[in-house]
Amino acid sequence: MSLANRGLWGHLWLLWLALLMLLGEAYESISDDTLKALPRPNKDFDIHKGALLSPILRPRVPGTPGSTAVLNHFADFFRTTLPKWKIQFQNSTATTPVSKWKEVPFVNFIASRDPPWAHVGDVSRLTLVAHYDSKLEPEGLIGAIDSAAPCAMLMHAMRSIDDALEKKWAAMKKQGVDTSLEEHRGIQVVFLDGEEAFETWTDEDSLYGSRSLAAAWDNEANPAMSSFKTPLSSISLFVLLDLLGAKTPVIQSYYETTHWAYRNLGSLERRFRSLKQFKSSSTEPWLVDTSKNEHELKPMGGIQDDHLPFLARGVEILHLIDFAPFKGFPEVWHVIEDDGEHLDLDTVEDWSMLITAFAAEWMELEGYFGHSDLAQKREDEDTEEEAIRLNKKTEL
Ligand SMILES: [Zn+2]
Repeated sequence: MSLANRGLWGHLWLLWLALLMLLGEAYESISDDTLKALPRPNKDFDIHKGALLSPILRPRVPGTPGSTAVLNHFADFFRTTLPKWKIQFQNSTATTPVSKWKEVPFVNFIASRDPPWAHVGDVSRLTLVAHYDSKLEPEGLIGAIDSAAPCAMLMHAMRSIDDALEKKWAAMKKQGVDTSLEEHRGIQVVFLDGEEAFETWTDEDSLYGSRSLAAAWDNEANPAMSSFKTPLSSISLFVLLDLLGAKTPVIQSYYETTHWAYRNLGSLERRFRSLKQFKSSSTEPWLVDTSKNEHELKPMGGIQDDHLPFLARGVEILHLIDFAPFKGFPEVWHVIEDDGEHLDLDTVEDWSMLITAFAAEWMELEGYFGHSDLAQKREDEDTEEEAIRLNKKTEL
């Protein structure tokens, strides 16, 4: 490089940096048409026969047959409905105050999907999380809002975006997008075991699964030369869903650094309502802090939940939990009434649509849902390109 060119290169370098920053901040709204056309869960949230929710509505205390059955349900769902997703189980054992020195097994379930061209250590993943274990007492507790329903919502959301994700990545490949310049954006769902205390909530008697997973992902090294050193640092945002499925939830924003993501979710909530796409009758916003800026959030000690072992390691957290100081947790929290019959199914469905839309925006899937003008345009362009390519071939 000659001295005279330094200025030009300097400018180019700044441009390049700006481009990289833009890519890092990317989050693209979906259109009203797409929002209205997102797939619905229909009968899959039926509490007796629904393909997604009903198999989770049973006691699933860690180490019991109920827990294994639910784990199998997750694995079957991804293997049959979303076969391109990578499934992992992360195992640990621990004694509990009631296990009489016996080790109890805890199994976390992880399903992830990365761009097909990306190396595993170069992918940042939107990480959507709920716990699937149920509390030991009261005996027979189902834990529908805690957290069977959130698990089903996440299954529906991933099923709803999978096809668009596939189309987007295929189109990028076809259009010859230089994938080495692209940010590698993936997505994963984590169903955690052992969130509940067996006796009384303490640091030792709670969060068995999340403590084990956070430590494991912090200690595991990605391949050499990866963009991210560990699977833990590959988490772009950790979205934790807990205690969702009761009517008129109140969701506060807890963290300044992720308030922008909270506001994006809040704006989707507002749009769903104004487009009359919400089934639940509530007119009050659930995401009550959406109109505030990040400096106006009330400092809160925070709620003890599965995000803590990740938060302690510097992971960005969005905690979606139905709680407010004036009302506490939902009425059915930790009592035997927390079963399928006490779910507000309209609210459960609305949540599942909201999470679907958020994931679609995060993964920038506008135009890949196969209904919109943009999708048609993109398809037309592809056909045109294909024609040109074929013509060239015949000319040759
Ligand atoms: Zn609980």
